[in-house]
Amino acid sequence: MSTATTDIMASLHQILRSITSREEKLERGPIRVAAHQTNVNKAASTLESTRDQLKAARMAVDAKQLQLRTSETKILDLQTKLNTCANNREYQALLEQIAADQMAESVLEDEILESMETVDTLVENVNEATQVVDETKKEMQEESKRVESEGRALRAEIAQLSSDLADTEKHLPETIKPDYARMVKTRKEDCLASVNDGICEGCFQQITPNMIAQLALKESVICTSCGRLLYPSDAS
Ligand SMILES: [Zn+2]
Repeated sequence: MSTATTDIMASLHQILRSITSREEKLERGPIRVAAHQTNVNKAASTLESTRDQLKAARMAVDAKQLQLRTSETKILDLQTKLNTCANNREYQALLEQIAADQMAESVLEDEILESMETVDTLVENVNEATQVVDETKKEMQEESKRVESEGRALRAEIAQLSSDLADTEKHLPETIKPDYARMVKTRKEDCLASVNDGICEGCFQQITPNMIAQLALKESVICTSCGRLLYPSDAS
């Protein structure tokens, strides 16, 4: 391995970038799991409201069936009274009453059938909503497992990269080491920028000829525009 200053700094920069990208991936892990948890919560809330609708529909059917039984009893009662009518006028009035009640009963029966169909539909909806809850829970568990195993791999890679970083840092010239050590703590990979054709590649501003001359002497040169520690790229 070449120990030229340029190579050392370029390689430090590359290692720092690799560490940052893995740290960002690590941070996204819990966010990915949380997104699935949101899906589970939504599905559970849909299931709950569908169950409530089903309960209300079943109660409506029960109430109408009770109403129907009451009406049937009443008609039977009226039919019994037909035998005890005192005159024809009373008899006719009773017949009309029975006919009207029977009409109302038939409307009620249609309504009961309709309500039962609503119950059937809602039973299907509850089954579907239950399935969605199960599926989203499964997806969340799978994502959680993926995030966990990816996290283990990322942490191992970060540990290896950090050890590579420490090894590489040892080869930095003493002229550069103090500035680098101070800046890397807070700025990580943003503490370094290559210079290509007199341009700082961190902020794309021109650097002075004097700074280029200092770079050639392996001195510590900091970009006056973005504050990054500069190193010449291979191309310059
Ligand atoms: Zn700059």
